Amino acid sequence: MTPVLVVNSGSSSFKYQLIDMDAEHVLASGLVERIGEPVGRSSHTVFAAPAEPGVPMATFTDATSERELPIPDHTAGFAVMLEAFAAHGPSLDAARPVAVGHRVVHGGARFFEPTLITPLVEINIDELSVLAPLHNPANLAGIRAARKAFPDVPHVAVFDTAFHQTLEPAAYTYAIDAELAAAHRIRRYGFHGTSHKYVSEAAAAFLGRDLASLRQIVFHLGNGASVTAIAGGRSIDTSMGLTPLEGLVMGTRSGDLDPAVLLQLSRRAGMSTDDLDDLLNKRSGLLGLAGSNDLRDIRAAIERGEERALLAFEVYVHRLRAYAGAYLAQLGGADVISFTAGVGENAPRVRAEALATLGFAGVEVDAERNEASARGIRIISTDASAVTVLVVPTDEEVEIARQSLQVARS
Ligand code: ADP
Repeated sequence: MTPVLVVNSGSSSFKYQLIDMDAEHVLASGLVERIGEPVGRSSHTVFAAPAEPGVPMATFTDATSERELPIPDHTAGFAVMLEAFAAHGPSLDAARPVAVGHRVVHGGARFFEPTLITPLVEINIDELSVLAPLHNPANLAGIRAARKAFPDVPHVAVFDTAFHQTLEPAAYTYAIDAELAAAHRIRRYGFHGTSHKYVSEAAAAFLGRDLASLRQIVFHLGNGASVTAIAGGRSIDTSMGLTPLEGLVMGTRSGDLDPAVLLQLSRRAGMSTDDLDDLLNKRSGLLGLAGSNDLRDIRAAIERGEERALLAFEVYVHRLRAYAGAYLAQLGGADVISFTAGVGENAPRVRAEALATLGFAGVEVDAERNEASARGIRIISTDASAVTVLVVPTDEEVEIARQSLQVARS
């Protein structure tokens, strides 16, 4: 057994998974939340062994246990997690992690690969909080608490931005005053890198094709959404920029807009910087247009004949098409287009509409394959389609665990 613990820490919560990397099987997962509130909450789920062929599913019992208690800070949160492992298993004596992998949102221009965490690396992550004030301090709180809980184990930082460090200057430079941009490190960084890397590699492996030979477009469509153009396994363009706000229409984020919209709202509506931040990150996208950030609600509202829901869906799809076209141009055509995350994996209508006009580029989605309620990685293009279209369930935790194990072993 080769257990790796993966930690994804937010400001008032963290998620964890213990994965046996011999089989890439999740042994346990959990969530510690409401840290710092009067009453915190934890839940811990233990997974039974993966199904052997022919063994009925009923014999596998996944057990979840929950607790409510004050959890003043992340260090207390890790103590609660250790108690859950001790009480409900698996025993961390038997399944002692050989590495702890941490998701870190912003690696700036400094971190382009998974990195063994040292006190100096912690300082660098902290310093990058200027670029990600909501995320990096929260990630760091998780790292510091986890290092106290597991002092003798290598801890590894895996950055959301790292996969996009292959972008050329032409792709990452904003056309603004160059000195000002350099002084404030304003450029495009890109996000969801762990997912884009995982999906593009899984697609190549599934098709039995050499990653180095493939031109790929990956649509990661969750609550946050981004699309990446990948040539030979390297990110050459991606829709998110300085922050995860740029690009596609998302659940609550606007994605691309004319920057003058901000100036207009500031001058005309008297909105402050914080108001605008809140508007664009939390009250825009599908939510701003149609009152819900969940595409299932939007679909239901369209069925009921709500016009604003239909418009929201059309705006969402229009943006997807624009990026599909742009990235076909950047790549000089595509071999594989993949869809992943909540919307990408579960919304056939979005997939079909996003690619509907791309027949000229050799993209032909098969309606029946696209709509089949299947799970797992699968082809949804026709046999005649020059471009293979896939649905690829993403697994950022496994990717973080893989990269962390690699660093821990080197
Ligand atoms: P996050 O970015 O928070 O990780 P997910 O990748 O889990 O998000 O995606 C969540 C979103 O996926 C939901 O807000 C919803 O819009 C969408 N979604 C989930 N299931 C379905 C479904 N069956 N049909 C359409 N959309 C879905």
